Amino acid sequence: MGTVKGQCLCGDVQFETPMPGHLDACHCETCRRWNGGPFIGADFREGINLTKEDGLAWYDSSDWAKRGFCKTCGASLFYCLKSNPDFWSIASGTLNLPKGLSLGKEIFIDEKPDYYSLAGKQPKLTGAEAFAAFTAGQDDE
Ligand SMILES: [Zn+2]
Ligand SMILES: [Zn+2]
Repeated sequence: MGTVKGQCLCGDVQFETPMPGHLDACHCETCRRWNGGPFIGADFREGINLTKEDGLAWYDSSDWAKRGFCKTCGASLFYCLKSNPDFWSIASGTLNLPKGLSLGKEIFIDEKPDYYSLAGKQPKLTGAEAFAAFTAGQDDE
């Protein structure tokens, strides 16, 4: 499987993760306000290694999640569940990913603006469908 390195724009936050198998996209308003567009992330339940966190700060974005960013350069980096601190979704653009990865699914498709669409035939779930799948434990990695 191997690992990949990632970092924010300025390098004050650096990390290593296992190689993700796919990426997931979220179109919800919170994600879009947070990182300026759809959030495309790689989900992990273990194996995150922060190698430099001088710039790391956290924003409490909801009752269930917090978001990590670099306070030096402003990069949006991490989505973490408060109920499960081992779950991290890492912004795909911060990882040195190889070509060839595809999207596993899109969520909050009902909140997606009309001015963009993502390529691919991956499942597209509404926010309600995504919450239902997550609560039922069917949310894959
Ligand atoms: Zn930075
Ligand atoms: Zn979202």
